[in-house]
Amino acid sequence: MRNAIWLRWSCAVLGIISFVVAAIPCCAQVAADDSLVFLHANTIDGISDAPTMDATVVVVNGRIQSIGHGPAPLGQGPVIDLTGHWLLPGFVDAHVHVGNLADARRALHSGATTIGEAGVNHFADVGMREMNHKGAPDVPDVVAAGYHIRTHPADDYFTDFPQDIDLMRGVHGAEAVRRMVREMVSRGVNRIKVMATERAGTPDTDPRIRVFNDEELTAIVDEANKTGLWVVAHAHGDEGAAAAVRAGVHCIEHGTYLSDATLRLMKEKGVYLDPTITATVDMSDPEGEYDNPILQMRGRAMLPTGREMAAKAWKMGIKIVAGTDTSYFDKNNRTLTDEMIELAGIGMSPMDAIKAGTSLSAEELGVDKRTGSIRVGYEADFVVIDRSPLENIRHIGDVIMVVNNGRVVLNRMNVAPRP
Ligand SMILES: [Zn+2]
Repeated sequence: MRNAIWLRWSCAVLGIISFVVAAIPCCAQVAADDSLVFLHANTIDGISDAPTMDATVVVVNGRIQSIGHGPAPLGQGPVIDLTGHWLLPGFVDAHVHVGNLADARRALHSGATTIGEAGVNHFADVGMREMNHKGAPDVPDVVAAGYHIRTHPADDYFTDFPQDIDLMRGVHGAEAVRRMVREMVSRGVNRIKVMATERAGTPDTDPRIRVFNDEELTAIVDEANKTGLWVVAHAHGDEGAAAAVRAGVHCIEHGTYLSDATLRLMKEKGVYLDPTITATVDMSDPEGEYDNPILQMRGRAMLPTGREMAAKAWKMGIKIVAGTDTSYFDKNNRTLTDEMIELAGIGMSPMDAIKAGTSLSAEELGVDKRTGSIRVGYEADFVVIDRSPLENIRHIGDVIMVVNNGRVVLNRMNVAPRP
């Protein structure tokens, strides 16, 4: 009897504690054994072709324990009533340059619970990944790339690798590129990013021009593959992109000027395409991130070409993923939802655009066994959307809640969970 009372009393206390913990608005470290129940969730799981209406999704210890129907299981909660709202996997932004925690938090609060880095300084990406894996709730999961492999590395590269100062003259030849890849591997990156053409976002470079010859590209891929890493290639111009695809890269980033022949080769080899259309939209916008009239003109010229290329790739059945190519810096005004809206614009159904920004991006980044879809056993990485994104993909921009590894990190629903 005494035991029963004690048990009931301690359960009540635990209930209050877990309610208080979940009601903490964000970013606080919480007990590891917390649970959370989403009721009446119209659920888009990121893999199925149809949503599950009115689902009950139970989260325990940061992972999805069950997806079913009916009331919250006894003893679990707090409960978040999502009546009328939509539960989606956390977004997976396949191409970012997030270099510090403030920007990482902005990415997370926009709904990106996982980010695929494509070149940052000083291995900030590796550190943020470790923070996430050690339980920091307000940092997204990160697929790290370190520095991009380019013919002229950023100055910062040499402060990390002073032994490589001979490469300040330029990274040329198979030995030099292999060394640079090995430096990345030694710092624990998850993938290698190579610049196969010049950049679009600087006025004195020409994105059509190829960099690195066949031998160098092959050496980069070979050196990365040796340790089980994939290579993704920045490529706008067709010659550089085709060479990268032949060399065995895993994904083409941007791909603005891809020819039909290169697209066919990508399809044949199962190479992903990350068209980053919103980056070109942004470049062409006088109010955008690229404050330069030459780039605005270039952006206006590249935009229709990139959209046509992506539409063709989609029709051919190439696996298209979603990336923003932003740093999520404080003046950034676009998120992965804009890219998913762009992808719907090139002919994808809203459901396919959502898959591109969740499960398919997770697959491309190699994290699809733990996130990118709502499945039992997976990390509880969610976004809640106010109205149906299937009815109108533009609704996807209205993110009202973000959950990262089972912790509510953004809540615009104006209702506290009930215990
Ligand atoms: Zn980029």
